[in-house]
Amino acid sequence: MTEPFNFSAGPAVLPKAVLAKAQAELANYQGTGMSIMEVSHRSALFQAVIDEAEASLRRLMEIPDNYHVLFLQGGASTQFSMIPMNLLEGGETVDVLDTGAWSQKAIKELDRVAKSHVVASSQSESYTTIPDIRTADWLETSAYRHITTNNTIFGTLMPEIPVHDSIPVVADMSSNILSQPYRVQDFGLIYAGAQKNIGPAGMTVVIIRDDLVGAGRPELPTMMTYRTHVDKKSMFNTPPTFAIYLSKLVFQWLEEQGGVSAIHAINQQKADLLYGYLDQSELFHATVAAPYRSLMNVCFKTNDSAIDHAFLGEAESANLHFLKGHRSVGGMRASLYNAMPIAGVERLLEVMDSFEQKQKRS
Ligand SMILES: *Cc1c(COP(=O)(O)O)cnc(C)c1O
Repeated sequence: MTEPFNFSAGPAVLPKAVLAKAQAELANYQGTGMSIMEVSHRSALFQAVIDEAEASLRRLMEIPDNYHVLFLQGGASTQFSMIPMNLLEGGETVDVLDTGAWSQKAIKELDRVAKSHVVASSQSESYTTIPDIRTADWLETSAYRHITTNNTIFGTLMPEIPVHDSIPVVADMSSNILSQPYRVQDFGLIYAGAQKNIGPAGMTVVIIRDDLVGAGRPELPTMMTYRTHVDKKSMFNTPPTFAIYLSKLVFQWLEEQGGVSAIHAINQQKADLLYGYLDQSELFHATVAAPYRSLMNVCFKTNDSAIDHAFLGEAESANLHFLKGHRSVGGMRASLYNAMPIAGVERLLEVMDSFEQKQKRS
């Protein structure tokens, strides 16, 4: 059997070196005879883990000192609610760029506590493009601007961030955090579920500028209040200790790879290989036009869903897994997160090419 490659959109592939390290110290962490899973989150042993996770992420993203880094639970989906609950007083309007299913979910939760204003939407193009942020209807009175930098389901990437001098940009970076350099200063708040490009499911990273944390509103549940987690440095209650530990290993692995700029170059190379093939193929085509193409989630199809189906079967027997597109899009989706080696993309191209040749002969 050939080497398996995992193209899942999330939970997703992790670096092999990280899994090997976690395995080596799983039952006996640093000679203690215990797993890091088994020790108190209040212990010096775990404190060192969470401190190093934060320090490594700060180095990787060059996070300025006036931003807090939180490791929370509840997934990116909880942030859809927590952000408006904490950042708004009541009655304000929030600008949202609608780029797909995750924007829609953010809007739904936002509208429970405030009012969303969609500045532009690519819905009429089945979300295969990103609206032009220069002609979008941004309000000068909005409390913040909500964007999704990378659209996991449709395979689009925002080419630009709608930065504003005084209105904070809030970004759902779940599927492309750490895949390319971003200026943290351009954002008021960044959030990401860990299970795409960071680590295992169960942890959510929130990077929040100090002035947006606020005092905490008395009517909010303690756990839904950023102030709680900022003051207790993500340790108000038991944090997702194993997920934080594994994410720390991923951050350190990424530093060893040369950091975000270095991995971005590799990500670009992987995406170029696949889109390059798709653009010359007579059977497959990319579903997204060049300016909006995601480096993380590459969506493609043939013109026949039965052929898509046959290809997915063939890919599976070639040990290439989870290539099926999201149920709302169909076709195929190859997720090429940081941990996907170039060899995985090369193998995918071989299998696609051989399938295409076979189709031509039949
Ligand atoms: C996966 C994903 C989410 C949802 O994350 P959960 O951690 O499952 O809540 C939100 N936004 C984007 C862009 C995603 O890719």
